Amino acid sequence: MSAAPARFSCAFLSAFLIVSACHSVQGRKLLVFLIDGFRYDYIDDLQNLPGFKEIVNNGVKVDYTTPDFPSLSYPNYYSLMTGRHCDIHQMTGNFMWDKDSMKEFLIGANPDSRLPMWWDGSEPLWVTMQKLGKKVYMYYWPGCEVEILGKRATFCEQYVSSPSMKNLTDSIENALNVLKNGKADMAAVYYENIDVEGHHFGPQSQEVQRAVRSLDVAFQTLNQKIKEKKLQDELNIMMFSDHGMTDIEWMDKVIELKAYINVSSVLKMMDRGPVVSLWPKPGMLDEIYRALQAAQHMKVYQTHEIPDRYHYKRGKFVPPLTLVADPGWFITESKDKLPFWQNGTGEAKGWQHGWHGYDNEFLDMRGFFLAQGPVFKKNFRAGPIRTVDVYNLMCTTLGIQPLPNNGSWSRVEFMLIASAEAVHPILLYSFALAMLVLMLSAGI
Ligand SMILES: [Zn+2]
Repeated sequence: MSAAPARFSCAFLSAFLIVSACHSVQGRKLLVFLIDGFRYDYIDDLQNLPGFKEIVNNGVKVDYTTPDFPSLSYPNYYSLMTGRHCDIHQMTGNFMWDKDSMKEFLIGANPDSRLPMWWDGSEPLWVTMQKLGKKVYMYYWPGCEVEILGKRATFCEQYVSSPSMKNLTDSIENALNVLKNGKADMAAVYYENIDVEGHHFGPQSQEVQRAVRSLDVAFQTLNQKIKEKKLQDELNIMMFSDHGMTDIEWMDKVIELKAYINVSSVLKMMDRGPVVSLWPKPGMLDEIYRALQAAQHMKVYQTHEIPDRYHYKRGKFVPPLTLVADPGWFITESKDKLPFWQNGTGEAKGWQHGWHGYDNEFLDMRGFFLAQGPVFKKNFRAGPIRTVDVYNLMCTTLGIQPLPNNGSWSRVEFMLIASAEAVHPILLYSFALAMLVLMLSAGI
């Protein structure tokens, strides 16, 4: 009888043990917070924000995150969870239109927005986790109720318009419990109110500052509960936003399209504000394109003219004409169709004072990123990263192999404690495979 099978088993077992050992420190639990519209500088002054301050002292803070273009919510929710640019994952707007099926994707609750065609362009992390037999609990996360590539999150507390502070604190308690008792490998919590206040009152407003302080109170509770439940050494936490916010002026800096074109020659117009998508009626493209050149403070692009750096033009829902406003400017069909917001009684309260969606390199569009936990350095200030970089970090802390993506590992690697636990999963598996081959060829 040959000794080869025994040698193979021994080598395989050794390699398996190496991977398992690495995995036991790698595959820790992860809790993520997506804080909508939280601009990078909202935590510049930590004096009155003890919750954030404790996290910063205990972990990693980056200078800022650069969102994907357009600096809108859904495109960046998906860039964060896939590590891919918008033209790869196809979620190119908060409002999209599919010319073939005539279906619309509209931000918020809308049955057609759950159709697979909007979501199946790339596989988000939670779907990969479910495919691997791991369990993800999601709270108010937009899209967690959608079946994507045949999978859903183990648990999804469905999105409601602007989840309350109680929704957030309950989610924190529940998330920590399911992570602690082994029901979840990852939990993800979404919070919208900072974005809502930023739109209504502007990023410099007292109202935004107040909202940030309320969020800080929730994070003080988070810090407290992590200690109570003795999760410090097993739980990694990341918190980040999808984009920032800039001031827009009352009824000023508005570009009215009706001043340049006959709106009836447009087949479909999606969204308003910094980025507007236009599908001209057949034969009208050239005329509309030429007429819109006269508009100031706005760029008009045919699809092939969209800058490469936006990573946008190859998206399948990108229209023949894309309009991009200069920072602070707002594109609409006409002023009387502006989105006035309403108070609880339905009374119109006025024009919005903040917006986002502009050129993703515009300073005010920058978001924030903080992380703490056993794999992260402590009290560590890091340079800027991009939205697409976050995915690799999440995969690494969870001990799963990232799918191909547009993130840069070199921009995030240094945040991790330099030890075996900070090894990228691809390197880890390559190492184990090399060990296996070496041991087999050496006859061990
Ligand atoms: Zn957003």
